[in-house]
Amino acid sequence: MKLITFTESASTRVGLLDGDEIVDLQAAAGDAPSEMTAFLEAGEAALAVARAALEAGGARLALGDVRLESPVLRPPKILAVGLNYADHVAESGMDTPKHPMIFNKQSTAVHAPYEPFHLPRVSPALDYEGELAFVIGKRCRHVPRERATEVIAGYTICNDVSVRDWQLRVPTFTMGKSFDTHCPLGPAIVTPDEIPDPHSLDLRTWVNGEPRQSSNTKHLIFDCFTLVEHLSTAFSLEPGDVISTGTPSGVGAVMKPPKFLKAGDVVKIAIDRLGEIENAVIEEPESTTRIG
Ligand code: ZN
Repeated sequence: MKLITFTESASTRVGLLDGDEIVDLQAAAGDAPSEMTAFLEAGEAALAVARAALEAGGARLALGDVRLESPVLRPPKILAVGLNYADHVAESGMDTPKHPMIFNKQSTAVHAPYEPFHLPRVSPALDYEGELAFVIGKRCRHVPRERATEVIAGYTICNDVSVRDWQLRVPTFTMGKSFDTHCPLGPAIVTPDEIPDPHSLDLRTWVNGEPRQSSNTKHLIFDCFTLVEHLSTAFSLEPGDVISTGTPSGVGAVMKPPKFLKAGDVVKIAIDRLGEIENAVIEEPESTTRIG
């Protein structure tokens, strides 16, 4: 199944994507949680309701009549991995990490899969990173690698948008990775039954139709299951947590000269079986300033 969060008639709720139609779970099964984190916490019971609604075929909306949101609106945590593809390590001129290089993106960075993200007022060094992400479905800790599939609710696409000067001018990435709108996610959380092997998916990124990244998740240095074991050794993972696994080669910052994103550019990322996300770049609007 393809779990989504969508807005229609001023109401934001969980649904299923089925081709170019939306199964409205609130209409089909009013007792299903309408918010994704609660839906995931409800576990197999909620998935069974969704499966029944999908098979019943009623209460559908046209995809074009709704706004797709990030499948998880406010993940408890967004964790990402630096330097997790050998070709990206090489283009960055770094050494291959001995341990996963984990950093945070703030939950407030989450953004819809087809809405424009911001070229910040404070920096021209805006860059994309096409990535496979996965979403946690169960609260867990100390999960061995061979049981990681039990806690993964599904897979999605992340653009780990990065402000390179803010990322690299201090020892930690947090500021440069966490600007508002800089975590487009989606279009859906695709459940594992539709992903026979998350580590054999082609991943591609285009800017204005020009191919920039082309790789396959088989090249991940630390794969999804290893990351679950590693992260959960230190802390609890919770339903709705998003883990983005890192980007392959082809980011704009390492081109000679660098090709940073400008207002008007359009970034598209596609991953096998997960669909695609496409976000334009706009100047950060005046309205982002808000005090009180
Ligand atoms: Zn990244």
